[in-house]
Parts: sequence; C-alpha cells; structure tokens
Amino acid sequence: MQSARNINGQASAPIPNVLIEVEYLSRVISTRSRNVQILDDLTFVIPVQSLFAINGPSGSGKSTLLNMLTGIDRPSSGRVLFAGQELRAMQEDALARWRGRHVGIVFQFFQLIPTLTALENVLLALELGGGGGRKRREWHQRATFCLELAHVKELAHRLPSELSGGEQQRVAIARAIANDPPVIVADEPTGNLDSRTAHQVFETLASLTQHGKTVIYVTHDRDLAACSTERIDLRDGRIASAHPDSKLLVEGDASCTL
Ligand code: ADP
Ligand code: MG
Repeated sequence: MQSARNINGQASAPIPNVLIEVEYLSRVISTRSRNVQILDDLTFVIPVQSLFAINGPSGSGKSTLLNMLTGIDRPSSGRVLFAGQELRAMQEDALARWRGRHVGIVFQFFQLIPTLTALENVLLALELGGGGGRKRREWHQRATFCLELAHVKELAHRLPSELSGGEQQRVAIARAIANDPPVIVADEPTGNLDSRTAHQVFETLASLTQHGKTVIYVTHDRDLAACSTERIDLRDGRIASAHPDSKLLVEGDASCTL
C-alpha cells in the first residue's frame, strides 16, 4: 500500500488507477459459544475499471467480503478505502447515500419488483438514487439506454414473470447502472442461470468495464473467475492466491471459454 497518510494514518491520497484499497481487513463474528473469524487479515487492491473476481468455495467468506467493500457490513479490524475515503469513518446514513451514488448491486436471484415492468424497475432505481445527477425529464431516456446496454430494450414493457431468468438478470444489470455508479458488484450473478445463459449474461456484465465501470463479482465457479482481469481466491477467510493477469474478456470474445 502506498497511500499518503496523515499523522494519524487517517486520510489518504488515492493511489492512481486504484479504486479500492483493502488493508489488514478482518471480520470476526461472536456467536454465543465462540468467536468465528470469517475474514482474516486481507490486503489487496482493486484497480479502476478492472473486472475483479472474488473466487472461493462456499463458506470461504466471499459474500462477507463483498459486503465490506460496499459498506453494508463493517470490518472488525482493518479498513476499506474507496478512492482514498475510509468507509468505516462514515455515519450509517451518509454511508447509505454514498452507496446509492457509488455502487450498483446485482443479486443472484435478480430481485426485481414483480409488479413493475422492466422499464419501471429501472425507473424506480433512478427515483431512489436521485437519477445520478440527471434531470427527471431525462430519466425515461436514461432507463431505455440502460436496458439497451443490457440487450433487453425490446422487453421494456414486460413484467419480470414474462421474462426468462437471463432476461431478468439483464434487467437487473440495467437497474444497477441506472444512476451511473462507478462500481457494479455482483454476488454469484449467474449462479441461478444455465451455463449458456450464464456465459451470455456474464459477457454483458463484463462489458461494463468498457463503459468505465469497475465490476466486482463473486463466484465459486473457477471458469467464470478465470475470465477476470484480476482476482483473489479465498480459502477459509484468507487470500490463498491473487492473480493480476487472468484472461481479459471482451464481449463476443471467444478467448474466455466457459
Ligand atoms: P461465501 O459467500 O463464500 O459462501 P460467506 O461470506 O457467506 O461465505 O460466509 C463465510 C462463513 O462465515 C461461513 O462459514 C458462514 O457460515 C459464516 N457466517 C457468515 N455470516 C455469519 C453470521 N452472521 N454468523 C455466524 N457465521 C456467519
Ligand atoms: Mg456467498
């Protein structure tokens, strides 16, 4: 880590080309009988515009780590710096506002609002996120653009129940980018899709890096993890290995075979 620190070690000048710095991060959960160390002394960086995989078997701490990166959960020790800003230093409501502006989330089970159409689901995200700085009259056009980027523009007026799993996840990707956050995080985003659909949806997610986004995804699937530009492999809450140069996936590029 090479951030500039003040005398208290608090403020940091962001490292060029690094979006997120994780330093000595640990998470311990106290149960009635014992303390469980879920994450143990993790240090790594996530470069700007990377396609960053958090890989590892079930129970290795992937989801817990992702929640630390987005400020949903707080470290027991160590810290997460986002563009030089320490997340732990923020109050809960400031953190929620920060998350709304900076992070788009894609879930394994899509979590679209079932009574709203695809377009309305994206519009709702704009409503909740303040439109990412856009004027209200531009929101419809923005939502349509996001659906187009996710290749589901023609399905804009369908309800989630009228969409396949892959199509629903594409709408969820459109929703995640609606407010133009710099980071998209996805926890097992293709875990509920068949392998062919999974590959296609993953390509769309990966292609967001070409629009300036940093994409962080959690997967237990080694082939999917190998498509990243950077990755860490977790085992029992520790980094077992880190790979800066895995294959770069470009949409439509067959070099990443799943
Ligand atoms: P992964 O996403 O890699 O499957 P998780 O981050 O969900 O792993 O969980 C890592 C480990 O921490 C698991 O063994 C899980 O059972 C445990 N764990 C997660 N949350 C809690 C909690 N609130 N209380 C106790 N144990 C937990
Ligand atoms: Mg998980």
